[in-house]
Amino acid sequence: MKALVMTGKQEMKMEEREIPTPKDNEVLIETAYAGICGTDNALFNGLPGSADAVPPIVLGHENSGVVKAVGKDVTNFKEGDRVSVDPNIYCGKCFYCHIGLFEECDNLSAVGVTRDGGLEQYFTAPDTVVYHIPDSVSLKEACSMEPISCGVHTMHIMDNIQPHMNALIIGDGYMAKIFAQLLRAYGVQDITMTGRHDDLLAQEQKQLNLNHVVNTTKEEIPSNYDIVIEAVGTPETQEAAVKHTNKGAQVMMFGVGAPGQTFSMNTYEIFKKQLTVKGSMINPNSFEDTLALLESGAVDITPFQANVISLDEVEGVLNHTTPKVGKTVVAVNPDLK
Ligand SMILES: [Zn+2]
Ligand SMILES: [Zn+2]
Repeated sequence: MKALVMTGKQEMKMEEREIPTPKDNEVLIETAYAGICGTDNALFNGLPGSADAVPPIVLGHENSGVVKAVGKDVTNFKEGDRVSVDPNIYCGKCFYCHIGLFEECDNLSAVGVTRDGGLEQYFTAPDTVVYHIPDSVSLKEACSMEPISCGVHTMHIMDNIQPHMNALIIGDGYMAKIFAQLLRAYGVQDITMTGRHDDLLAQEQKQLNLNHVVNTTKEEIPSNYDIVIEAVGTPETQEAAVKHTNKGAQVMMFGVGAPGQTFSMNTYEIFKKQLTVKGSMINPNSFEDTLALLESGAVDITPFQANVISLDEVEGVLNHTTPKVGKTVVAVNPDLK
């Protein structure tokens, strides 16, 4: 089989490998699609993701495919099942697992980060992190279950989302678009999104039924909000997120900055407005809600999975030598249905 192996920092090589044999508790999956995200960019450049990727490793933590074989202890999957994998594997033994804060697991491992993922024709995963996908959800959509589930986790860890709350999404990338749909699905009525290009914002406003859009290259964010989701990760946007808050607001820091990055905020206002500023890290227990949202159509990412490429083109995208518009999805085997 073909495997796209990250062999070092900013280095990838297409290798011919044996199809892996699933262990007793594992499922062997023939990859249909794999998504590329900011985490892959970080890993490719030698930076940490949710965990460290040590080369040689096959990336591809966002993936979908069809079961090819199962280990002897696997009872809930069989050859031919359509599946997606929640990449994150919690140890179950550390303090944070014991208190239910799985995302902070001391021994986090992940498919496509610490063990080989979807950027190869076949990969394995423990049956505990494999999910059946319903017929109405395509394998292409299913490869975005992981990013959607990270947004769902943000919804899970917010307090008491209510229809009267207004929301600001900072950024208009793939995750920002997912957040627009999630906030709507969770009952928020008034949603504003910021971006940097009028034409894109106009299109997004229509596609996502946004109440307001703001081009921050030429206008100020006009109001304050009860919910602010920061989905860019720069000091400027993080500062703006905390600034544009109503009393009692929740600011969710989703955009990932560089590990040493800082920003400034008015701590008196945090006290006076009783703000919550919270990070949101990965996606424990979020795949079932993700499935429900995809199945109902409340979340529809198909218009945004715009950049479909082959395995051979992945390095160019990670190197930024190939221009990209929209979410990049690798069609490893698009003939799988
Ligand atoms: Zn991702
Ligand atoms: Zn743990």
